[in-house]
Amino acid sequence: MTDRSSPEVVIVGAGPAGCTLAALLAQRGVACVVFDDDKRPDLLVGESLIPGVVPVFRQLGIEDRVAAMSVRKPGASFFVTDGGPRIHFSFKNVEGHLPPYSYNTPRPELDNLLRLRAEELGARFVHARAELVAGVEDGEPVIRLGAASLEKAGLKAEARPLLVDASGRARAFARAMEIPAVRGERNDVAYFAHFEDFDHDEVEPGQVIISVLRAGWSWRIPLPGRLSVGIVVSKEHSKTLGETPEERLEQAIREEPILAAKGASARRVSPVMTYTNYQLLSERGHGPGWVLLGDAFGFVDPMLSPGLFMSLEGARQLDACVFSKGPELLKNPAALTMAMDRYSRRMVQWHEAWTELVRYFYDGRIFRIHLAGKNLAMKPSPFNIASVMERHSTFHIASMASGGYTRSRYSRGLMRMLARHLVWGVAEAENFCVRDVRRQELEKAA
Ligand SMILES: Cc1cc2nc3c(=O)[nH]c(=O)nc-3n(C[C@H](O)[C@H](O)[C@H](O)COP(=O)(O)OP(=O)(O)OC[C@H]3O[C@@H](n4cnc5c(N)ncnc54)[C@H](O)[C@@H]3O)c2cc1C
Repeated sequence: MTDRSSPEVVIVGAGPAGCTLAALLAQRGVACVVFDDDKRPDLLVGESLIPGVVPVFRQLGIEDRVAAMSVRKPGASFFVTDGGPRIHFSFKNVEGHLPPYSYNTPRPELDNLLRLRAEELGARFVHARAELVAGVEDGEPVIRLGAASLEKAGLKAEARPLLVDASGRARAFARAMEIPAVRGERNDVAYFAHFEDFDHDEVEPGQVIISVLRAGWSWRIPLPGRLSVGIVVSKEHSKTLGETPEERLEQAIREEPILAAKGASARRVSPVMTYTNYQLLSERGHGPGWVLLGDAFGFVDPMLSPGLFMSLEGARQLDACVFSKGPELLKNPAALTMAMDRYSRRMVQWHEAWTELVRYFYDGRIFRIHLAGKNLAMKPSPFNIASVMERHSTFHIASMASGGYTRSRYSRGLMRMLARHLVWGVAEAENFCVRDVRRQELEKAA
């Protein structure tokens, strides 16, 4: 049980990142307080998980409870509209280094479970928005809790706990301290809702389907009793779909052939939620007495569902780099800075690796690699080497998308090599890429 009287760590935000860190700290006996503004809508994105999160659920002792509220996810399929190629990735490929499955989970329930687990382990929650005061000390940006928040956390005015920003896209610390971020190339909008009687394609039960549409892309995530359907389109294209989020989602489903027939007799059973979709990485991950975690540090494009993994893995990395070194580290500013440097570097590497991987899916190269691999596997070769090569590539691509080999130098090098040198005799990648406006309009304009 942790010492509740004087927390050494204050976490701002009770999403998956904040609650996972709180649970890990409580397991370690580090006293912490989590500020939760309780602003959780009934429907949240982040429902499709990758196998890389399962070991963290096990570490927290909650996998059974996650399984009970979820649909087991055997893999993910990637389709291209208008009869284009279809790739089916099975997580069976990653067996041996990761669990060969994951889960599709209603997000608010998962967040509640993570919070409950942190509480069971002894973390304390304050149901209030954290008030923050930013400044500069010795030329470095610093951030402190306001007086009222210090009091709510049970801290004296002069207390200096380590502050962790897990406020998600609110990016509370970075905004207050005006820390810039590097933005990725996309700036889309996503609309999603839950449906009943939306036919799933002929894939294994629980399989998630990502489709390259005529404009933008879509997800279909099987959840208990319903299907989560989302579209991600450019802001420009979204305006052609209608005025309201409801009109836009429903019109996209009607006019995209890959969704229309499947959704013909579907009933929407939730409100339509809107999210802006962008990629972003903070230029700094930590400073004196503060550190960023989860979406507050960086946000990877959601096409391959790395968000929850990055939040949970970020909490694990912060725990491993900083808190596993013992309580003395928190009192030694130089050693703490080095430990947080290590954590930040690792998270930047994760971010870069995911960004590189997701680009293959946006620009269509993944479909080209897949088609070339299929051709190769069918060719007779000595010792069946072509088909061995094809299985080897599939293993590495699936392992990267599962969170196992995402950062592996060998896997990344293999992908680059395949995309450059092993794609002869198949259509150009741009035939399969995600487009901002409808394909037909582009063709007409050309
Ligand atoms: C369109 C889209 C689809 C996505 N799909 C997936 C997917 O399928 N799978 C996946 O893994 N990820 C997905 N994601 C990403 C995923 O949702 C996020 O990566 C994840 O929620 C990040 O968790 P977090 O804990 O960092 O932040 P959050 O979940 O945003 O939690 C932050 C919490 O902090 C609270 N807070 C903010 N400011 C304060 C304050 N001052 N005081 C107290 N509390 C505060 C907020 O209310 C919130 O509860 C998707 C994202 C988008 C945009």
